[in-house]
Amino acid sequence: MKVYTLLISVFILISSCHTAHTTEKNILPPQTQTTTMPITPEPKTEEQWKQVLTAEEYRVLREAGTEAPYTGKYTNLDEKGNYYCKACGNLLFSSDTKYHSGCGWPAFYDIANGDAVITREDNSHGMKRIEVLCKKCHSHLGHVFPDGPQDKTGIRYCINSISLDFKTDSTQK
Ligand SMILES: [Zn+2]
Repeated sequence: MKVYTLLISVFILISSCHTAHTTEKNILPPQTQTTTMPITPEPKTEEQWKQVLTAEEYRVLREAGTEAPYTGKYTNLDEKGNYYCKACGNLLFSSDTKYHSGCGWPAFYDIANGDAVITREDNSHGMKRIEVLCKKCHSHLGHVFPDGPQDKTGIRYCINSISLDFKTDSTQK
């Protein structure tokens, strides 16, 4: 029984250390700080993802790849509608918050709702960035930067077109 109690204590200690560590490095406004993973990610194995995604979709969505700038089909799209996760169909962004950032990828200054995305630190490629993942299936979407439109949220979600599936208002009806 004592061992069990000790294990619980160690777990709580590790959890609180981890929380302190992640909040220390926050560089973005509070509304983008979501480091807690949801408890029920899309129950697919990587082999199953390979079967439902193309090779390029898999490289970006499941291996955190990046499509070449100015090549994505949604970068300059201005149509009214919604952007869903290419992997699981989760609603991610609305055209209402899409804008032309000039960065070469679709840019949004906000997410569709609280269930859209999660974020985590990404220190790959010698850069310190915040990665954006689908909250439902944990697929890689892109990154978020603190250089969005100042008259809106001030943040920029820089998202790969290939991670998205756009549906116009009319096709949803
Ligand atoms: Zn998803």
